[in-house]
Amino acid sequence: MSDTNLTAIVYKKGDLRLEETEIKEPGIGQVQLRMCNVGICGSDVHFWTQGAIGDFVVKAPMIIGHEGAGVVNKLGPGVTNLNIGDRVAIEPGVPCKCCKFCKKGRYNLCPRVIFCATPPDHGNLSRFYCHDADFCYKLPDHVSTEEGALLEPLSVSVHACTRAGVTLGSRVLVCGAGPIGLVVLLTAKAKGAAEVIMTDIDKSRLEFAKSLGADHTVLVTSRDPVDTANKVEAILGDKADIAIECSGAPPSIRTAIFATAPGGCVMIVGLGPADVELPIVNATVREVDIRGNFRYANCYPAALDMIASGKVNVKPLITHRFKLEQSLEAFEMAKQGKGIKIMINCEK
Ligand code: NAD
Ligand code: ZN
Repeated sequence: MSDTNLTAIVYKKGDLRLEETEIKEPGIGQVQLRMCNVGICGSDVHFWTQGAIGDFVVKAPMIIGHEGAGVVNKLGPGVTNLNIGDRVAIEPGVPCKCCKFCKKGRYNLCPRVIFCATPPDHGNLSRFYCHDADFCYKLPDHVSTEEGALLEPLSVSVHACTRAGVTLGSRVLVCGAGPIGLVVLLTAKAKGAAEVIMTDIDKSRLEFAKSLGADHTVLVTSRDPVDTANKVEAILGDKADIAIECSGAPPSIRTAIFATAPGGCVMIVGLGPADVELPIVNATVREVDIRGNFRYANCYPAALDMIASGKVNVKPLITHRFKLEQSLEAFEMAKQGKGIKIMINCEK
């Protein structure tokens, strides 16, 4: 029986379809992968339900999915770092490798990056997919392809915690206990944070955070950001050294600033409204640095080492599993906000 390539495609806002597509041959420096697992991320759901995120608009049918892992099925010309049969995690953003940002190693800022499932670039929720071999990371035998897929969100947290300066003894506030806030929790702990306190408006997410090792949680019940910041301070006995904002909600970003100690850092990971009013004078006169985070660069190897060495266990994040054939069902569940990480298995 010849292989077919079942593929999940967002045609336009609200229109997600499963269709057979051609199996592409790997180009120079690429590998063809037989996909194993793809996790669903909030942005995938957003491109399906809204047809756009900011300036990125689905104008032509786009294959969805960017948290993937697979097995090398074919080597393109010039590939020397991988062999057929290797299980790999796929870093979904391939930059131009030539511009000044790429040359500085800050390739996440490359203006010509091709990023899976960010329009107009295709993603990898399919049976077969080709990717640059140098953006595929071989998994040790004891690391599963599901964990390989989770290297994507984990790399976001590695980048964010590194840029925020999380280190031994840090007291860290994480705002928002969704998948991203939760991997930030795991990473901050692995980096030696003494205490991690998490906020959310959803009680069940905070309970999940506790089960993953959050030291403290604060249920956000007030829209007054000072009120929430005061609760954080009361629990920690002081303000946090670092706040990592992972909800994108404007009141939560304000809380992050008020709850951070003088000389500390607020890391903005959550992406909410384009314009947000912030207590900027409060931040300035206390030298609270506000820094941005965009995906990751050079973080996959560290994220993989964290998993392979057992420093971080991402497996509990997976709450639901579906087959590729059930992708529409899986996306429907993700849309309803059920569970934490929904994982799709792409194997026949
Ligand atoms: P999510 O929507 O699953 O989680 C967000 C959480 O924030 C939810 O649990 C929600 O209940 C909570 N929340 C909402 N309002 C809140 C408030 N006022 N205070 C505290 N918590 C509140 O999303 P996710 O997948 O975990 O992603 C989190 C954010 O990170 C999203 O905005 C996403 O776009 C962004 N993101 C950014 C990057 C980056 O590189 N900057 C990468 C990936 C994701
Ligand atoms: Zn570049």
